[in-house]
Amino acid sequence: MRAWQFSGFGDIDKLGIREIGQSCPGPGEVRVTVSFAGINHVDRLVVNGRLKWVSLPKTPGAEYVGTVSEAGEGVHDFHRGDRVAVFPKMFCGRCRYCLAGQEGVCLSGWNPERAPVDLSTNMLPSSMDGGWAEEALIPSRNLVKLPESLGFREAACLPLSAMTASHIVSRVRPSPGESAVVVGANGGVGHFAVQLLKLSGLAVIAIASSASQEEAMKSLGADFVIARDAGNVRESIMSQTGGYGADIIVDSIGQATFRESLNSLAPCGRYVTAGTLSGPFSELSLMQLYSRQLELIGSTTGSRRDLEAVVDLASRGKMKGVVAGEYAFEELPAALEEHAKGGRLGKILLRVG
Ligand SMILES: [Zn+2]
Repeated sequence: MRAWQFSGFGDIDKLGIREIGQSCPGPGEVRVTVSFAGINHVDRLVVNGRLKWVSLPKTPGAEYVGTVSEAGEGVHDFHRGDRVAVFPKMFCGRCRYCLAGQEGVCLSGWNPERAPVDLSTNMLPSSMDGGWAEEALIPSRNLVKLPESLGFREAACLPLSAMTASHIVSRVRPSPGESAVVVGANGGVGHFAVQLLKLSGLAVIAIASSASQEEAMKSLGADFVIARDAGNVRESIMSQTGGYGADIIVDSIGQATFRESLNSLAPCGRYVTAGTLSGPFSELSLMQLYSRQLELIGSTTGSRRDLEAVVDLASRGKMKGVVAGEYAFEELPAALEEHAKGGRLGKILLRVG
Protein backbone atom coordinates (compact mmCIF):
# COMPACT_ATOMS: atom_id res chain seq x y z
CA MET A 1 0.00 0.00 0.00
CA ARG A 2 1.08 3.60 -0.58
CA ALA A 3 1.71 6.14 2.15
CA TRP A 4 2.99 9.70 2.34
CA GLN A 5 6.01 9.51 4.63
CA PHE A 6 8.95 11.56 5.80
CA SER A 7 12.21 10.40 7.39
CA GLY A 8 13.68 13.73 8.54
CA PHE A 9 12.08 16.87 9.93
CA GLY A 10 11.75 19.89 7.69
CA ASP A 11 9.45 21.54 5.19
CA ILE A 12 6.66 19.70 3.42
CA ASP A 13 9.05 18.76 0.60
CA LYS A 14 10.39 16.10 3.01
CA LEU A 15 7.21 14.15 2.30
CA GLY A 16 7.18 11.51 -0.42
CA ILE A 17 4.91 8.64 -1.50
CA ARG A 18 6.39 5.29 -0.47
CA GLU A 19 5.22 1.77 -1.18
CA ILE A 20 5.20 -0.05 2.14
CA GLY A 21 4.10 -3.52 3.20
CA GLN A 22 0.70 -4.17 4.67
CA SER A 23 0.80 -4.47 8.48
CA CYS A 24 -1.38 -6.84 10.47
CA PRO A 25 -3.43 -5.29 13.26
CA GLY A 26 -2.16 -6.25 16.72
CA PRO A 27 -4.38 -7.17 19.67
CA GLY A 28 -7.07 -4.52 20.13
CA GLU A 29 -6.25 -2.87 16.79
CA VAL A 30 -7.96 -2.67 13.42
CA ARG A 31 -6.73 -1.84 9.96
CA VAL A 32 -8.69 0.95 8.27
CA THR A 33 -8.82 1.46 4.50
CA VAL A 34 -8.72 5.25 4.34
CA SER A 35 -11.34 7.08 2.24
CA PHE A 36 -10.70 10.73 3.03
CA ALA A 37 -8.23 12.56 5.26
CA GLY A 38 -8.22 16.16 6.47
CA ILE A 39 -5.34 18.64 6.31
CA ASN A 40 -4.67 20.27 9.67
CA HIS A 41 -2.12 22.60 11.24
CA VAL A 42 -0.95 19.82 13.57
CA ASP A 43 0.20 17.75 10.58
CA ARG A 44 2.53 20.55 9.59
CA LEU A 45 3.89 20.64 13.16
CA VAL A 46 4.58 16.90 12.89
CA VAL A 47 6.54 17.30 9.64
CA ASN A 48 8.54 20.37 10.64
CA GLY A 49 9.64 18.84 13.94
CA ARG A 50 7.74 21.02 16.40
CA LEU A 51 6.58 17.72 17.91
CA LYS A 52 10.12 16.43 18.35
CA TRP A 53 9.20 13.19 20.07
CA VAL A 54 7.67 11.86 16.85
CA SER A 55 9.44 8.64 15.80
CA LEU A 56 10.60 8.38 12.17
CA PRO A 57 9.77 7.47 9.47
CA LYS A 58 6.27 8.79 9.93
CA THR A 59 3.00 9.17 8.03
CA PRO A 60 1.09 12.29 9.16
CA GLY A 61 -2.67 12.72 8.86
CA ALA A 62 -4.37 13.14 12.23
CA GLU A 63 -7.85 13.31 10.72
CA TYR A 64 -9.30 10.49 8.64
CA VAL A 65 -12.27 8.26 7.97
CA GLY A 66 -12.60 4.94 6.17
CA THR A 67 -13.67 1.32 6.34
CA VAL A 68 -12.43 -1.43 8.66
CA SER A 69 -10.61 -4.02 6.52
CA GLU A 70 -9.31 -6.30 9.29
CA ALA A 71 -9.85 -6.56 13.04
CA GLY A 72 -7.11 -7.85 15.37
CA GLU A 73 -7.38 -10.25 18.27
CA GLY A 74 -9.81 -9.20 20.98
CA VAL A 75 -11.72 -6.71 18.82
CA HIS A 76 -15.41 -7.55 19.07
CA ASP A 77 -17.21 -4.23 18.46
CA PHE A 78 -15.87 -3.58 14.96
CA HIS A 79 -15.87 -5.81 11.90
CA ARG A 80 -14.64 -5.78 8.33
CA GLY A 81 -16.81 -3.34 6.34
CA ASP A 82 -17.72 -1.03 9.22
CA ARG A 83 -17.55 2.65 8.20
CA VAL A 84 -15.64 4.59 10.85
CA ALA A 85 -14.21 7.93 11.95
CA VAL A 86 -10.97 7.88 13.92
CA PHE A 87 -10.56 9.71 17.24
CA PRO A 88 -7.24 11.50 16.62
CA LYS A 89 -5.50 11.10 20.00
CA MET A 90 -4.05 8.06 21.67
CA PHE A 91 -5.52 7.34 25.09
CA CYS A 92 -5.28 4.59 27.68
CA GLY A 93 -8.93 4.27 28.72
CA ARG A 94 -7.84 3.71 32.33
CA CYS A 95 -6.45 6.97 33.79
CA ARG A 96 -8.57 9.43 35.79
CA TYR A 97 -9.15 11.65 32.74
CA CYS A 98 -10.14 8.80 30.43
CA LEU A 99 -12.52 7.43 33.08
CA ALA A 100 -14.09 10.90 33.31
CA GLY A 101 -14.61 10.99 29.52
CA GLN A 102 -11.73 13.42 28.92
CA GLU A 103 -9.63 11.22 26.61
CA GLY A 104 -8.10 14.30 24.97
CA VAL A 105 -5.99 14.94 28.08
CA CYS A 106 -5.16 11.29 28.85
CA LEU A 107 -2.14 10.86 31.12
CA SER A 108 -0.54 8.04 29.10
CA GLY A 109 2.83 9.17 27.81
CA TRP A 110 2.82 11.99 30.35
CA ASN A 111 6.24 13.58 30.52
CA PRO A 112 6.80 16.14 33.31
CA GLU A 113 9.75 17.63 31.39
CA ARG A 114 7.71 18.72 28.40
CA ALA A 115 4.27 18.95 30.06
CA PRO A 116 4.33 22.74 30.67
CA VAL A 117 4.66 23.51 26.96
CA ASP A 118 3.32 20.33 25.43
CA LEU A 119 1.86 21.28 22.06
CA SER A 120 -0.14 18.19 21.46
CA THR A 121 0.23 15.36 23.93
CA ASN A 122 -0.63 12.01 22.41
CA MET A 123 -1.76 13.43 19.07
CA LEU A 124 -2.23 10.53 16.69
CA PRO A 125 0.89 10.92 14.49
CA SER A 126 3.10 11.26 17.61
CA SER A 127 2.96 7.53 18.22
CA MET A 128 1.13 5.79 15.36
CA ASP A 129 1.04 6.59 11.65
CA GLY A 130 -1.80 8.79 10.48
CA GLY A 131 -4.24 8.72 7.61
CA TRP A 132 -2.26 10.15 4.67
CA ALA A 133 -1.98 6.54 3.51
CA GLU A 134 -4.17 3.99 1.79
CA GLU A 135 -4.34 1.99 5.02
CA ALA A 136 -3.73 2.74 8.70
CA LEU A 137 -3.63 0.74 11.93
CA ILE A 138 -5.45 2.13 14.95
CA PRO A 139 -6.70 0.82 18.33
CA SER A 140 -10.39 -0.04 18.05
CA ARG A 141 -11.16 2.14 21.07
CA ASN A 142 -10.36 5.14 18.82
CA LEU A 143 -13.17 4.28 16.40
CA VAL A 144 -16.62 5.82 16.13
CA LYS A 145 -19.08 4.20 13.71
CA LEU A 146 -20.47 6.35 10.92
CA PRO A 147 -24.19 6.12 10.10
CA GLU A 148 -25.06 5.25 6.48
CA SER A 149 -26.69 8.68 6.12
CA LEU A 150 -23.31 10.39 6.47
CA GLY A 151 -20.99 10.32 3.46
CA PHE A 152 -17.23 9.89 3.88
CA ARG A 153 -16.52 13.31 2.36
CA GLU A 154 -18.61 15.12 4.96
CA ALA A 155 -17.48 12.82 7.77
CA ALA A 156 -13.82 13.58 7.03
CA CYS A 157 -14.29 17.13 8.37
CA LEU A 158 -15.41 15.85 11.76
CA PRO A 159 -12.72 13.86 13.65
CA LEU A 160 -10.45 16.81 14.41
CA SER A 161 -12.03 20.09 13.26
CA ALA A 162 -15.66 19.59 14.29
CA MET A 163 -14.73 17.63 17.41
CA THR A 164 -12.39 20.44 18.50
CA ALA A 165 -15.21 22.97 17.96
CA SER A 166 -17.60 20.82 19.97
CA HIS A 167 -15.14 20.65 22.85
CA ILE A 168 -14.57 24.42 22.75
CA VAL A 169 -18.31 24.99 23.07
CA SER A 170 -18.60 22.60 26.02
CA ARG A 171 -15.63 24.30 27.74
CA VAL A 172 -17.22 27.80 27.61
CA ARG A 173 -20.55 26.71 29.11
CA PRO A 174 -22.78 28.72 26.75
CA SER A 175 -26.23 29.86 27.88
CA PRO A 176 -29.04 30.73 25.47
CA GLY A 177 -29.24 34.47 24.96
CA GLU A 178 -25.52 35.09 25.43
CA SER A 179 -23.37 36.56 22.69
CA ALA A 180 -20.34 34.85 21.17
CA VAL A 181 -17.61 35.96 18.79
CA VAL A 182 -15.72 33.43 16.68
CA VAL A 183 -12.35 34.76 15.52
CA GLY A 184 -11.18 32.96 12.37
CA ALA A 185 -14.78 31.90 11.77
CA ASN A 186 -14.11 30.77 8.20
CA GLY A 187 -11.45 28.24 9.27
CA GLY A 188 -11.71 24.48 9.67
CA VAL A 189 -12.60 24.68 13.37
CA GLY A 190 -14.19 28.15 13.22
CA HIS A 191 -16.97 27.33 10.77
CA PHE A 192 -18.08 24.47 13.03
CA ALA A 193 -17.86 26.67 16.16
CA VAL A 194 -20.26 29.17 14.53
CA GLN A 195 -22.80 26.41 13.87
CA LEU A 196 -22.51 24.80 17.32
CA LEU A 197 -22.77 28.10 19.21
CA LYS A 198 -25.87 28.98 17.17
CA LEU A 199 -27.38 25.56 17.96
CA SER A 200 -26.76 26.40 21.66
CA GLY A 201 -29.00 29.46 21.31
CA LEU A 202 -26.37 32.20 21.23
CA ALA A 203 -26.16 35.34 19.12
CA VAL A 204 -23.06 34.64 17.00
CA ILE A 205 -20.71 37.22 15.53
CA ALA A 206 -18.34 35.69 12.98
CA ILE A 207 -15.02 37.34 12.18
CA ALA A 208 -14.16 36.10 8.70
CA SER A 209 -11.17 36.75 6.46
CA SER A 210 -13.05 38.84 3.94
CA ALA A 211 -16.45 40.38 3.15
CA SER A 212 -16.91 37.86 0.31
CA GLN A 213 -17.54 35.17 2.99
CA GLU A 214 -20.44 37.04 4.62
CA GLU A 215 -23.30 35.22 2.95
CA ALA A 216 -21.77 31.79 3.48
CA MET A 217 -21.11 32.54 7.16
CA LYS A 218 -24.71 33.68 7.61
CA SER A 219 -25.97 30.47 6.00
CA LEU A 220 -24.02 28.57 8.68
CA GLY A 221 -25.80 30.51 11.44
CA ALA A 222 -23.80 33.69 12.01
CA ASP A 223 -26.05 36.60 12.99
CA PHE A 224 -23.47 39.20 12.07
CA VAL A 225 -20.25 38.96 10.09
CA ILE A 226 -17.22 41.20 10.50
CA ALA A 227 -14.63 41.14 7.71
CA ARG A 228 -11.09 41.09 9.10
CA ASP A 229 -9.81 42.99 6.07
CA ALA A 230 -12.27 45.84 6.74
CA GLY A 231 -10.53 46.72 10.05
CA ASN A 232 -12.17 48.09 13.24
CA VAL A 233 -13.00 44.61 14.51
CA ARG A 234 -13.32 45.61 18.18
CA GLU A 235 -15.45 48.63 17.33
CA SER A 236 -17.85 46.40 15.37
CA ILE A 237 -18.04 43.84 18.20
CA MET A 238 -18.82 46.57 20.76
CA SER A 239 -21.48 48.09 18.54
CA GLN A 240 -23.13 44.68 17.98
CA THR A 241 -23.19 43.93 21.73
CA GLY A 242 -24.72 47.19 22.94
CA GLY A 243 -21.32 48.58 23.88
CA TYR A 244 -20.65 45.88 26.53
CA GLY A 245 -18.60 43.37 24.58
CA ALA A 246 -19.20 39.66 23.98
CA ASP A 247 -19.88 37.03 26.66
CA ILE A 248 -17.72 34.47 24.86
CA ILE A 249 -14.82 34.84 22.45
CA VAL A 250 -13.45 31.79 20.63
CA ASP A 251 -10.00 32.68 19.34
CA SER A 252 -7.51 30.13 18.04
CA ILE A 253 -5.53 32.68 16.03
CA GLY A 254 -3.55 33.46 19.19
CA GLN A 255 -0.82 36.07 19.49
CA ALA A 256 -2.05 38.41 16.72
CA THR A 257 -5.61 38.74 18.03
CA PHE A 258 -5.34 38.06 21.79
CA ARG A 259 -5.36 41.73 22.90
CA GLU A 260 -8.21 42.64 20.60
CA SER A 261 -10.23 39.65 21.82
CA LEU A 262 -9.64 40.35 25.50
CA ASN A 263 -10.57 44.01 25.02
CA SER A 264 -13.81 42.93 23.32
CA LEU A 265 -15.09 40.80 26.22
CA ALA A 266 -18.03 41.84 28.42
CA PRO A 267 -17.59 41.72 32.22
CA CYS A 268 -17.52 38.05 33.33
CA GLY A 269 -16.70 37.14 29.71
CA ARG A 270 -14.92 33.92 28.73
CA TYR A 271 -12.01 33.76 26.30
CA VAL A 272 -11.27 30.30 24.92
CA THR A 273 -8.38 29.17 22.76
CA ALA A 274 -7.73 25.82 21.10
CA GLY A 275 -4.76 26.86 19.02
CA THR A 276 -2.15 29.51 18.30
CA LEU A 277 -1.96 29.84 14.53
CA SER A 278 -0.22 33.24 14.70
CA GLY A 279 2.06 32.41 17.64
CA PRO A 280 1.67 31.37 21.29
CA PHE A 281 2.81 34.39 23.33
CA SER A 282 1.06 37.55 24.46
CA GLU A 283 1.04 39.98 27.38
CA LEU A 284 -1.82 39.87 29.82
CA SER A 285 -2.88 42.56 32.27
CA LEU A 286 -3.81 40.70 35.44
CA MET A 287 -5.65 43.85 36.49
CA GLN A 288 -7.91 43.54 33.47
CA LEU A 289 -8.43 39.87 34.26
CA TYR A 290 -9.57 40.31 37.87
CA SER A 291 -11.28 43.69 37.68
CA ARG A 292 -13.63 42.54 34.93
CA GLN A 293 -13.87 38.97 36.23
CA LEU A 294 -12.73 37.50 32.93
CA GLU A 295 -12.02 33.81 32.41
CA LEU A 296 -9.25 32.42 30.20
CA ILE A 297 -10.03 28.88 29.07
CA GLY A 298 -7.86 26.38 27.23
CA SER A 299 -9.35 23.63 25.12
CA THR A 300 -7.53 20.89 23.25
CA THR A 301 -9.04 18.56 20.65
CA GLY A 302 -11.89 16.83 22.48
CA SER A 303 -13.28 13.62 23.85
CA ARG A 304 -14.86 10.59 22.24
CA ARG A 305 -18.17 12.03 23.42
CA ASP A 306 -17.48 15.20 21.36
CA LEU A 307 -16.74 13.12 18.26
CA GLU A 308 -19.89 11.03 18.73
CA ALA A 309 -21.91 14.25 19.17
CA VAL A 310 -20.71 15.85 15.92
CA VAL A 311 -21.15 12.60 13.97
CA ASP A 312 -24.74 12.50 15.26
CA LEU A 313 -25.42 16.17 14.42
CA ALA A 314 -23.94 15.88 10.92
CA SER A 315 -25.83 12.65 10.18
CA ARG A 316 -29.11 14.38 11.11
CA GLY A 317 -28.30 17.40 8.95
CA LYS A 318 -28.07 19.76 11.93
CA MET A 319 -24.49 20.74 11.15
CA LYS A 320 -22.39 20.53 8.01
CA GLY A 321 -18.77 20.67 7.02
CA VAL A 322 -17.83 23.02 4.20
CA VAL A 323 -15.22 21.56 1.85
CA ALA A 324 -13.02 24.35 0.54
CA GLY A 325 -10.89 22.10 -1.63
CA GLU A 326 -10.54 18.40 -2.43
CA TYR A 327 -7.29 16.89 -3.72
CA ALA A 328 -6.39 13.43 -5.01
CA PHE A 329 -3.95 11.36 -2.93
CA GLU A 330 -1.04 12.19 -5.24
CA GLU A 331 -1.81 15.92 -4.95
CA LEU A 332 -0.96 16.25 -1.25
CA PRO A 333 1.76 18.92 -1.82
CA ALA A 334 -0.80 21.13 -3.63
CA ALA A 335 -3.30 20.55 -0.81
CA LEU A 336 -0.70 21.59 1.78
CA GLU A 337 0.21 24.66 -0.24
CA GLU A 338 -3.44 25.70 -0.42
CA HIS A 339 -3.85 25.05 3.32
CA ALA A 340 -0.87 27.26 4.14
CA LYS A 341 -2.42 30.22 2.31
CA GLY A 342 -5.28 30.50 4.80
CA GLY A 343 -8.28 32.77 4.27
CA ARG A 344 -10.50 30.04 2.75
CA LEU A 345 -13.90 29.02 4.09
CA GLY A 346 -13.95 25.45 5.38
CA LYS A 347 -11.76 22.37 5.11
CA ILE A 348 -9.20 21.00 2.68
CA LEU A 349 -9.52 17.27 2.13
CA LEU A 350 -7.33 14.56 0.66
CA ARG A 351 -9.24 11.93 -1.35
CA VAL A 352 -7.38 8.73 -0.59
CA GLY A 353 -9.51 5.80 -1.72
ZN1 LIG B 1 -5.96 7.82 29.87
